[in-house]
Amino acid sequence: MAATPVSSKYLLESAQEHIPMCIKHNLNIDMTCEDCDEFICSQCAKTDHKDHEWKTIPTAGSLGRRELKKTLSKVKEKDIAEIDEKIKKASKQKEGNRKCCDSEVSKLQKHYDAIVSKLDEIKKNLETKLVENLERKNAEVSKKKLDLENKRDIIKDLVEFLEDKHGTMSDYSLIDNLRDLTNLVSNTDSDIEREDHSVRYRGGDISEGSLDSIMGQTFDLDDFRVTETDSFQYEDECVHVLEAIDEDTRLVREYKSKCFERMNIRNKKKEKFNICGKDVCVTDKEGGLLVTLVDDDDDDDDDDDDDTKTFHPDSKSRRVLRHVTLTGDVIREYEYQEDSQTRLFTLPYKVRQNGNTDICVVNRTSQSTGELVILSSSGFLKSVYHGNPTDVVCNAHFNIIVTDCSNSQILLLSPDGEFMEYLLTENEVKHPYSMSLYKFTLWVGDYQGLIKVFQFNYT
Ligand SMILES: [Zn+2]
Ligand SMILES: [Zn+2]
Repeated sequence: MAATPVSSKYLLESAQEHIPMCIKHNLNIDMTCEDCDEFICSQCAKTDHKDHEWKTIPTAGSLGRRELKKTLSKVKEKDIAEIDEKIKKASKQKEGNRKCCDSEVSKLQKHYDAIVSKLDEIKKNLETKLVENLERKNAEVSKKKLDLENKRDIIKDLVEFLEDKHGTMSDYSLIDNLRDLTNLVSNTDSDIEREDHSVRYRGGDISEGSLDSIMGQTFDLDDFRVTETDSFQYEDECVHVLEAIDEDTRLVREYKSKCFERMNIRNKKKEKFNICGKDVCVTDKEGGLLVTLVDDDDDDDDDDDDDTKTFHPDSKSRRVLRHVTLTGDVIREYEYQEDSQTRLFTLPYKVRQNGNTDICVVNRTSQSTGELVILSSSGFLKSVYHGNPTDVVCNAHFNIIVTDCSNSQILLLSPDGEFMEYLLTENEVKHPYSMSLYKFTLWVGDYQGLIKVFQFNYT
């Protein structure tokens, strides 16, 4: 629909003043086409607008007059009210934008203050080193100064003594006293040269790059928007695991199967893979795979009837995230928090390693609830996002993307798991269940087996 001109001319002429002619047929324009919202002539009505609903202008006019009150009151009560609502929203939006900006600025200020206080601490430590040296050296110098003063007084006394008494003392005593004097004068124990201030300060490089990386950066959420580029029906059931190894290879697991298969996307060839688990992801930095494992002894971990055991693991049950080589050798396991007692996971379901080496695990806590557990690669529990995710991927900026299957949303989180914005909503995805992000392409598999392909706008 074309935008309504806000201040255009309004027609106020009477019918007699001006009867326009049809340029095409050279006839009086005396009809109106309801379908095209156009004035036409009788010939137009028979040709171009043949199957349209048209009326003579007087008929349409009297109809318009009869409905006028209703029409205008609808505009007054409904349409204008709706516009008012939008105007109110716009004011609110401005206010919201300002609040958001203020909160980001205060985050920046807080970070800056933290840096400054850290710098202050470093400066104080350096200063302490300098001052300590000064104190140590000057204490030594004071001591030596005192020694020298004593020495000077002793020498003075001795000189005075020799001047006064040299005539009356024996040769033996004179020689002995002169020997003492020589010794006193030549003794260099109290040299002060070694006590110069010896600690120096040299400033490091002020490289803008490293300062920038400490200060952080701004980013525009608009740049994280995605556009749908493709979609296809993959199967009738829920797409469970989608994991890209490279451009052509995906690791897949069928719903009932315990082990993964390696599938080449070009020739659709499936290969047996000797690693089993709930989910698998390729680690970014160290190589190898991260695999989530659920072991309840009874070989029945997908049994929905046994919820109690699934979500309340007993002491024999294992809820493990395992880092393995491509041949299946275990590199390390993540199972408990730092106290070695509290489990990290109830049902570790999906796993993904972020580019900053953090490990993100979708942890199902009941049939309908879940959370995202964020671990450092050393296994330290960093934070928990309490949404209800079913899958997780991470983008090049270390942001975390999670599905919210029940609310038909895909959310963008900060690297620490803080909500930033909705990436996709109901209009674009219905019950998204699994995701795969390779470079700038996001694949979303939904509950009904539909796969949609989205492209990130930034490149
Ligand atoms: Zn015409
Ligand atoms: Zn028409």
